[in-house]
Amino acid sequence: MVNPSPSVASVNDDAIDGAESGHFRHFFLFQAVPAWLVSMLVHVLVFVLLGIMTIADPVKIINVLTASNTGEDGPEIEEFTIKEVDPGEVAESEELSEPMVDMPETTENVEPMEVAMPMEVAMSPVDVTDFAADMAPSGAALQSLASMTSQSFNSRSVDMKKKLLREYGGNESSESAVNKALKWISLHQVNGGDGDGGWTFQHNLVCRGACGDPGEAQYAKSFNAATAMALLPFLGAGQTHLAGDYKETVRRGLLFLARNGKPTNSGGLQMMDFRDGAGNLYSHGLVTILLCEAYAMTEDPALMAPAQAALNFTCYSQNPSDGGWRYTPRSTAVSDTSATGWHVMALKSGYMGHLIVPPAAVKGSINFLDRVGSNQGSIYGYTDKVTSATSAPACTAIGLLCRMYTGWDKTHPGIQAGVKNLVKIGVNKKDIYYNYYAAQVLRHYGGPDWDKYNVELRDWLVQGQSTTTGSVGSWHFPDSQSHRGPLEGGRLASTSFATMILEVYYRHMPLYANNASEEDFPL
Ligand SMILES: [Zn+2]
Repeated sequence: MVNPSPSVASVNDDAIDGAESGHFRHFFLFQAVPAWLVSMLVHVLVFVLLGIMTIADPVKIINVLTASNTGEDGPEIEEFTIKEVDPGEVAESEELSEPMVDMPETTENVEPMEVAMPMEVAMSPVDVTDFAADMAPSGAALQSLASMTSQSFNSRSVDMKKKLLREYGGNESSESAVNKALKWISLHQVNGGDGDGGWTFQHNLVCRGACGDPGEAQYAKSFNAATAMALLPFLGAGQTHLAGDYKETVRRGLLFLARNGKPTNSGGLQMMDFRDGAGNLYSHGLVTILLCEAYAMTEDPALMAPAQAALNFTCYSQNPSDGGWRYTPRSTAVSDTSATGWHVMALKSGYMGHLIVPPAAVKGSINFLDRVGSNQGSIYGYTDKVTSATSAPACTAIGLLCRMYTGWDKTHPGIQAGVKNLVKIGVNKKDIYYNYYAAQVLRHYGGPDWDKYNVELRDWLVQGQSTTTGSVGSWHFPDSQSHRGPLEGGRLASTSFATMILEVYYRHMPLYANNASEEDFPL
């Protein structure tokens, strides 16, 4: 929208302009065709564009991004070089955020990447026609998804943001907390050295100890994951490299990622691998969500190729037997709900950005959810079914959100019973990762249960935000249970999760807004 040139939006706009200047037939055609058909045409156009583009050209990407530099200077931070990080631990960074769920681990061998593996599905534009139907079999959900594909992330625009903030339970304090958090994150952007423009979970090296509670040393060089976690809250608040108060911060962060992605290909399909070093797919999933959101929000053509290439690697990495994701691409080990959650969100963000998401990838995700879901899909386990929602609460919350995005209606018994499970668990002050997902599920579901959960979570977060000099605007959760993100990713991860929770009112368009009648008639 902001940058027309060869973007999808300009193609659509041309068609509609033509209609307005007298081609009524075409105009009515556009009104009459279902949204999925428009979506398909857009996907085919993207496909054609991609076919003639060279994806693996980071220099070009960097040039285009640099060209949109507004000339504003980022916040002044002392120079930081990654040499200050203890390199002794870095080789261990493989398991970046693997322990975000405290379930028993299986050991698995790291597989070599099969770069020669063809990916027929993503290469075939025909498959795209079924995607909307696959994503959303029910009428209401289809309508929601269709409106999202045309509006994408309009919820983050200034006016819509205000409206949704009011409507879904945000307030001045929560919004002020978001602003302070963005400030803290921006002050911890790396200046200089190999990490220039990125972030590290050892944020204390950037601020020279002005605040503490860094992540574990072994994740010090998980720059991709840290940078994605740092930037997601900016996008969530509508701050991009083209709009808002942090254009330069976001631009430098995107540039860092564009430099750091590893171009690769599979059977001629261009891909970009965003795993950190020898690290796992969590980093890649986070970066893919970020790039897809950034592209969907700005339609900056410079971002289309990296976003699609990252998505391609996500699809390539999917476990061919169970349809989920684990730590390594095409892992033969059973997939887990935590890793799968990030990648399903990546597919959803790609879909909203009119990028190519093969239906097979979505179908695979649904298969995996069936595999770990029990009690009609109201409870989810980590790698297997469990009998109680309290066995792995974060997994239940992740599973339910994935179900909402892959087509389950609000009235589905799995959603209904699942929401009751989350309501029973309530706000878990020792598990911000659980709250991050539970808040999204309950907000989409809406009603009095959301109101109650939201007030408690919102006010707890607002009151818990640091007011101490040096760490103002950040969060730290000392009571956090082990293996829940904040311990591994430290204050930066905690702040990212807390900020995105306080953006929940407007970060995504409400899924069930059209049939949320219980808000008028409380049960
Ligand atoms: Zn600091």
